Amino acid sequence: MRVDSHVHVFFEGSDPEEFILGCARVGAKIVEQKSGVAVAPEVLRESAMGELGDPDASKLVGWMDEAGIDRSVLLPLDFGMGCDEPAIGKLERLTILERNELYAEFTRKYPGRLYSYLGVDPRRKGALELFRRGIEEWGMLGLKLHPTAGFYPHDPVCYPFYEAAREMGVPVLIHSGTEPAPLKPMFSQPKYIDAAAADFPEVTFIIAHCGHGWWIEALDMAMSKPNLYVDFSGWQAEYNGDPDYFYFVLRAAINVLGASRVMFGTDGSMTNVMLWPRDWMQAWLEPKSPSGISFTTEEIDMVTGGAAAMLYGWE
Ligand SMILES: [Zn+2]
Repeated sequence: MRVDSHVHVFFEGSDPEEFILGCARVGAKIVEQKSGVAVAPEVLRESAMGELGDPDASKLVGWMDEAGIDRSVLLPLDFGMGCDEPAIGKLERLTILERNELYAEFTRKYPGRLYSYLGVDPRRKGALELFRRGIEEWGMLGLKLHPTAGFYPHDPVCYPFYEAAREMGVPVLIHSGTEPAPLKPMFSQPKYIDAAAADFPEVTFIIAHCGHGWWIEALDMAMSKPNLYVDFSGWQAEYNGDPDYFYFVLRAAINVLGASRVMFGTDGSMTNVMLWPRDWMQAWLEPKSPSGISFTTEEIDMVTGGAAAMLYGWE
């Protein structure tokens, strides 16, 4: 079974505009570096939204088919409190309740293909109730937190959520590493996720993106805590820069944690502009490392789906 353990759905009004523009600024810089042609972030935003905007998740399922991905784990984003609210006063996008309801609807529309976490900022009123409802009523898999909106994973505000995760027997997936403005990655450093994992050894915590540039810290923390997992979603950028940088870190992660705590992910759909899901999956299934870094078939099967299947009880 092949599993994308980390993916999102974007469309007009799905997320704070300030964040979408932040992503477009990053994209414009990459385009300019590669082609020498300056492109306005606003122009890039329009074309990316046109191609990757996916209000009913049908494009996502098409990309999964192309890539040979059997199941995808959707992660609703809630970093609005770190963006343009409430200063603007008028919300022309989905509320957090609506966004989570929509993701639950996608899982009902594509049973056996799409699964979802419940994503909410723990500082929001009614957040804990929403988390419980997501798990108990909508069959969601776990809790997604995005600390870059301005809270630490080991902040006491998060602890009732970890208590609830322990009680309901579900994992907590926490963003870690680089993120465009206006979000602040400092809150998502792996050592803060580790502090939460230390207080809740019965709860599985997933360090998303293996902390990107903090990958050494992420692996170091996870080495001595069996309840810490990592996913390598969003590493298309590192892979594009130098395939061996990615393969070296993936090899290190498997060496340190074992393949059963390391997971493939796309972090789509915005990352499709860097590498299409089928090409990213191919880079995992048939690694072509310039310096000869290699993986066994068993390791590849585990990281591209086996680990997620075990975590979610699918096998
Ligand atoms: Zn993500």
